[in-house]
Amino acid sequence: VALFVLSFSLPASAEQHALAWRSASALPDELREVGIRALIRDDAEATTLASSDFGNVSVYVDLPAAVLYPSCPGDIAALLRASCARASPFPVSARGCGHSIRGQASAPGAVVVDMPSLGRLAGGSATRLSVSVDGRYIDAGGEQLWVDVLQASIAHGLTPRSWTDYLHLTVGGTLSNAGISGQAYRHGPQISNVQELDVITGVGQIVTCSKEKHADLFDAVLGGLGQFGVITRARIPLVPAPARARWVRLLYTDATALTEDQERLIDLDSGVGALSGLMNYVEGSVLADQGLVGSWRSSFFSDADAARVATLAQEAGGVLYCLEGALYYGGAGAGGESDLGKRLELLLHELRYARGFAFVQDVSYVGFLDRVRDGELKLRAAGLWDVPHPWLNLFLPRSRVLDFAAGVFHGILRRGNTGAMGPVLIYPMNRNRWDSGASAVFPEEEEVFYTVGILRSATPASTDGGQLLRLLEDQNGEIMRFCEEAGIGCVQYLPYYAGQADWEKKHFGPTKWAKFVERKRKYDPKAILSRGQRIFNAPL
Ligand code: FAD
Repeated sequence: VALFVLSFSLPASAEQHALAWRSASALPDELREVGIRALIRDDAEATTLASSDFGNVSVYVDLPAAVLYPSCPGDIAALLRASCARASPFPVSARGCGHSIRGQASAPGAVVVDMPSLGRLAGGSATRLSVSVDGRYIDAGGEQLWVDVLQASIAHGLTPRSWTDYLHLTVGGTLSNAGISGQAYRHGPQISNVQELDVITGVGQIVTCSKEKHADLFDAVLGGLGQFGVITRARIPLVPAPARARWVRLLYTDATALTEDQERLIDLDSGVGALSGLMNYVEGSVLADQGLVGSWRSSFFSDADAARVATLAQEAGGVLYCLEGALYYGGAGAGGESDLGKRLELLLHELRYARGFAFVQDVSYVGFLDRVRDGELKLRAAGLWDVPHPWLNLFLPRSRVLDFAAGVFHGILRRGNTGAMGPVLIYPMNRNRWDSGASAVFPEEEEVFYTVGILRSATPASTDGGQLLRLLEDQNGEIMRFCEEAGIGCVQYLPYYAGQADWEKKHFGPTKWAKFVERKRKYDPKAILSRGQRIFNAPL
């Protein structure tokens, strides 16, 4: 059972770290000797930018001493070898776009590697994206954004199968976690959809690995939270792309009907049930009073619909559920429109949503996959994107999801009505699409597990921002205590723990932890990589 620890003391201020490091070691000169000094900056602009993340919560912001802007993977290898050669190595963290929430990509007092510069300095991003039409794969630099992977693949009528909801994340960043969205139930997470990786280990070795070659490193890095190596290239399999998506949102007044329907849709293996696999994408969300219209996912409803939905929510006691699905069609990758019509008709007939509350849109496949971008642009324009995001993401065993819904959606979140904006996601996945040999941690006891994402912004409504942030962090803590007391064995996705003991006991458990440590000893024995995760803080 995971326990979310929400407060911890910083060892020393980041500034103190940085100053001590600069005066005591003269590191930049050592780096000049290995030929990368010109690619390093230690001015305040560079270090401040490299310490920021999407979470935007000041307690997790740690300034690095310097930032490396690599022009090729060899520059990162040189940095890591220079660190290893020192009596006391300096930590190094790869930073994709800093979409982490709690400082996971930071390197307090040490060196952040600005991954996007690999694409920029290589002569433009496109040079690090290469599609093989015959081989049906794309080679993507670890710094590449998934949206660019999509555009490069689509140009050949091809597409990866597994996605995240938001595509402006880096390949290396999501593969260091898992990479999940509504396609994961059938294709597995993004880490189950990789053929080969180029990785630079913590000792500065560049290794090409796959299930056939250096399989242990391959497994270690996938979901490995940046602990075993820096991913500089991933080979992602491609399939023929559909042309369009029929995008559906159905409202439910209770969690039992929603989850039963979701499970009918994702049941690919029992061989029974007319609905199994009919949707190409299955997700769901919770709509409470405050998150109904303001969230970045709810542009679906017209004003008139929103008013009807609000009335339904009131009648249902303040909480509604939404099943979100998509059916792909057209193009080489999916059936035609008549087949789509039959699938949709069957779904709308069989699923047990509140009648009259089915909403359907027709969009391009690319528009569907990149759907969160619209919400981002709107929030940016309103000054609501760069605000604190105390997000909480969990995986729960299927057997306890209704207990969780009762205690959290109808209990904790209802009672403490914070007025915070942001979606609350809930959807199931099939465990057998995940590889238990990879480093990612997920509930393994049951065939199906759920993900719950409580993705709220501390955007001031009536309260001031700082007060709201504390309120939301307190609620996150309350949710974790509730799970612990109710014996709901959840683990965090995109996890955060304050120290090693919690990682061992609350996240990995004894068997996975032993494997994780064994791999750390093999690939990064001096514990140089991704210290911002707070898993290892000293050589092994
Ligand atoms: P960073 O935050 O920069 O890094 C994350 C970790 O990975 C750090 O420890 C870092 O050191 C390490 N790392 C970064 N690059 C590399 C590399 N090349 N090699 C090795 N280690 C590396 N996740 C989902 O699964 N599904 C979603 O739908 C989803 N939606 C999101 C929507 C938004 C708006 C945001 C902000 C995040 C979302 N995420 C989602 C979470 C996202 O997958 C993680 O934040 C992830 O870390 C990717 O972000 P990044 O590329 O900016 O990585």
